Amino acid sequence: MTSIRKKLVTDVQANKVTYGKGNVKKYIVVHETDNTRSGADADAHARLQSNGNSRSASWHYTVDDKEAVQSFEHVWRCWAAGSNKGNNEGIQVEICVNADGNYLKAMQNAAELVAKIMKDEGISIGNVVQHNHFSGKNCPRNMREGKISWSQFITMIKNASGDVQQPAPIADNNKYRVLTGTYATKQAAENTQDVLKHRFGWVAYIEPDGAKWRVKTGTFTGMATAQAGANKIKTAKLAQVANVVAA
Ligand SMILES: [Zn+2]
Repeated sequence: MTSIRKKLVTDVQANKVTYGKGNVKKYIVVHETDNTRSGADADAHARLQSNGNSRSASWHYTVDDKEAVQSFEHVWRCWAAGSNKGNNEGIQVEICVNADGNYLKAMQNAAELVAKIMKDEGISIGNVVQHNHFSGKNCPRNMREGKISWSQFITMIKNASGDVQQPAPIADNNKYRVLTGTYATKQAAENTQDVLKHRFGWVAYIEPDGAKWRVKTGTFTGMATAQAGANKIKTAKLAQVANVVAA
């Protein structure tokens, strides 16, 4: 079970960014943060809320590849689902998509969190819904686009609930590349390309970006593999920035 840490918003602040208490707790509403910046993890989102989020938005949990952080007790009617019904009756879970996080692990942690909330509040799997269910918004975006499908996520929740005995069939067969930040000179980009090719044994290309240069890898199968590749580039100090992009 992923760790769940409470970093609750004060009642004074909560009253500014919710419809108050009285949540019916009928649904669990799944979101993605859509914030791909490095460092935009669960802790950062929880701090944003506890420091007084200036936006008219609120949600109960943020979960990343390391932990889940709770910002509101379930009783609060947070503003996240884009409809009164979704806000009044839903417990809102945001999954992080930060570039320096492992999205698949964040989904697995989210599945465990959702399974726990279902058990605690007596909510059935049929009432675990996407944000899209209430407002038509393209959220959770990656799942809706099939990076790891909604049905796979539901299977992960069932497994976390102990409803299903076999392990989750999680196969991310999508292709990704790693794209570095820019280098000022072509020579610097070529130096990195050289290491990727001859030391790592990868395919690597150089791409112009304005007057600068980037290095792009060949394809990796699966987000987790590509993320490991990006981390390897950063650990080897070949680039300060290395982002995973869809191939
Ligand atoms: Zn959403």
